[in-house]
Amino acid sequence: MTRSSNPGKSRWLAATIAITVAIAMAAPLWPEPAQSQAPGRPTNIGNLVRNFERMAFPEEDQIEEWSTIKRWATPISAVVKGDGGAEYRTKLRVLFAQLEALTGLEFSVPESDSAATTDVIFSDRDWYRSQAARSFQEPDQVQCFSNTSANIYGEIQTATVVIPNDLGTERVGECLAHEIMHTLGFPGHPQRTFYSALGNGNSPEVFTVNDLIIIRALYDPRLTTAMLRDEVLATARIVMIELLERVKDSDDPLGALAQRQPVNWWEFGRPGNFGDLPAARF
Ligand SMILES: [Zn+2]
Repeated sequence: MTRSSNPGKSRWLAATIAITVAIAMAAPLWPEPAQSQAPGRPTNIGNLVRNFERMAFPEEDQIEEWSTIKRWATPISAVVKGDGGAEYRTKLRVLFAQLEALTGLEFSVPESDSAATTDVIFSDRDWYRSQAARSFQEPDQVQCFSNTSANIYGEIQTATVVIPNDLGTERVGECLAHEIMHTLGFPGHPQRTFYSALGNGNSPEVFTVNDLIIIRALYDPRLTTAMLRDEVLATARIVMIELLERVKDSDDPLGALAQRQPVNWWEFGRPGNFGDLPAARF
């Protein structure tokens, strides 16, 4: 490992010290077929609430009734660092355009930004191994990982995603969708039966319709980072009942759920036409 191949190292080390959440994506249980498009169908409200709870609260806190949600409150700017990462910038932009629509926050992927909130680091295998070994008990099982730090108000301030640069394109796609979803404020994982980019060992390269609903719900203005667990879940249920209703008969779930137009819509299609977002290009 050399510093030049991992320009995010010092930032990453700082983030490690200030770590609040470190989450791994487990190695897949079986090879996934290529997914050209993975919207899926929305599940029922009971499943959504159950899995929202599992995803939005840290796994070690599952029984802590005083735990709260964390989410971004300011624009997100992500830079891709390390050898082999640049080719994935478009994939990240597609995910970010969706997130912009769902959260109402700005998401950008500039070529470089000294004030970026998020580092997506493509690292060589040796450096990856050493970093994974510091954070995880079974680093060999960790395909890629991320961490976030938040302030005392539950507002996420920075995030780091680390992906080894020797993974195949499909695995990188899974890692990106999975880890970026973690960095939004979802430290946990859903049940295995819940179709989601956050599924462990069996996750698609894109956000599923379930994910769109869960993400949109976390960033609904009716939820706040000051709410305790019970209030979060009761409110999330109300919000998601409404979102399900909107998505139910729509052939454009993203458009039905959007809080705003993506600022960068011009990269992906005409304004107002979310169906043009090229999720299918993955
Ligand atoms: Zn994970």
